Amino acid sequence: MKHDCHYHPGEPAKWHCGECLTHYCPSCMPDAAPRRQHGLCPHCGRNMRYLGAATEVVPFWNRLSAFFRYPFHVDPLMVIAICTFVPMLLSANLIGVLVTVLLVLALFKYTYAVIRHTADGHMKPPPLATAFSGDGFGIVILQLVVFVLMGGLVFSAGLVGGPYLALLVLAFAVLALPASIMVLAMEHSVMAAVNPMNLAVLISRIGWPYFLLYGYVILLTLASGAAQEFALNHFAPWLAQPLAGFLNSTFTLILFHMLGYLLFQYQEELGFASDLQDADEQDSGHQRDRSGRFDADLDMNLKDGNYDRVLSMLKDSLKRDPHNSHRISQLYLLLKARHDTAELCRFHPRLLSWLASRNDSDGIKELLRILEQAEPGFRLDDPELSLACAQPLYRQGEYKAVLRLLQDFHKRFPDCEQLAPAYLLVAQALANGLGLWDKATAFLSFIEKKCPQHPLHGQIAAYKEQASRREPLKGPRATFAVDG
Ligand SMILES: [Zn+2]
Ligand SMILES: [Zn+2]
Repeated sequence: MKHDCHYHPGEPAKWHCGECLTHYCPSCMPDAAPRRQHGLCPHCGRNMRYLGAATEVVPFWNRLSAFFRYPFHVDPLMVIAICTFVPMLLSANLIGVLVTVLLVLALFKYTYAVIRHTADGHMKPPPLATAFSGDGFGIVILQLVVFVLMGGLVFSAGLVGGPYLALLVLAFAVLALPASIMVLAMEHSVMAAVNPMNLAVLISRIGWPYFLLYGYVILLTLASGAAQEFALNHFAPWLAQPLAGFLNSTFTLILFHMLGYLLFQYQEELGFASDLQDADEQDSGHQRDRSGRFDADLDMNLKDGNYDRVLSMLKDSLKRDPHNSHRISQLYLLLKARHDTAELCRFHPRLLSWLASRNDSDGIKELLRILEQAEPGFRLDDPELSLACAQPLYRQGEYKAVLRLLQDFHKRFPDCEQLAPAYLLVAQALANGLGLWDKATAFLSFIEKKCPQHPLHGQIAAYKEQASRREPLKGPRATFAVDG
């Protein structure tokens, strides 16, 4: 069935969150990795189902070599080594027996975890800690109970319907054993694992590949048995025993990984969703698309009308990265659209300096007007910012605004490096803009007197010359340069 993106109608969805029941298109999921079928829901953070994936999972019969490589990773090898070799070093007293039992439990716990881990889409073995931490050590007991119940079922079938029925039930039990193990590993429930209906449904949903897998299971079991026997017959006992134990454990891991993969491959038929998600493979793309993810989140929240959420996201982002002009522009647009005077005032230094960097004199004027309205008599308290804002205003012919911005500059910011360029700008606004040559000359004289060290000082005489001739004040360079 085709679905459209919830946020981009008309755009076919590629991802589906089973939790939020929302579909997303690739542009909503810039951080997702379709090839690895890995994407986290932007709303709940859970793994999402890649809609193209269900048909793209490699069938288990095409990745047999991967199954055989599975146990040969550090974590499973460690588990096998600890659980197989340590018991052999222990003496046969009570503590030795106890530790051995615990290690066997840990090994079983690990192998059963493999099924679930694989079914969840991990093609790498679970970490070592899985064997020794958390709950689930009872899985061996549960498996024993399952066997006992199955035996009881066969036995009672014999009592009720004679040997033929018993044989029939036995055949079903043997056939359903892998299914039962899968159910037990997934649900940790004895009743679910022996319920014939449950098992029949699982087998019928998977269909013929279940029997193919069954064939592999038999072959693997035979191969494992043969290899162990070979070891026991041809090597000294001190070597043969650990080797046989090691072989047994590796074959079990391969087998259980296969069972888990069968669940993964038929997830759709079995009614659960999981995606490939090997942690170390996903890192590279993850970082790179952080900002893409952020923009997509903003977009979604805007479309959902969560403006407060958008605001807090932008503020958080600007806390981490105060000079990110892209975020500042987004903040500006949002605050302006919402007429959020309080936040406009709070962020005015960054907003103004961003507007100045874009030469947006209208934006500067508008924001200054809002600031003045919110706080009559408002003055910027940053000399550089004042000058930076005054320049685009001057270029736009907003002379009054320039004068207002730079009013009393020498009193508000005494000893400021920017005094010379600021008052030169004032002089230009007065002369070129308003035709007030005398006032302009006064400002030029002020620079001449107060800023003897400033690089502009050398040009002041020329400016005064121009002013005396009522000519527009133009420096040797076409524009006034501001250091820094
Ligand atoms: Zn979309
Ligand atoms: Zn979700």
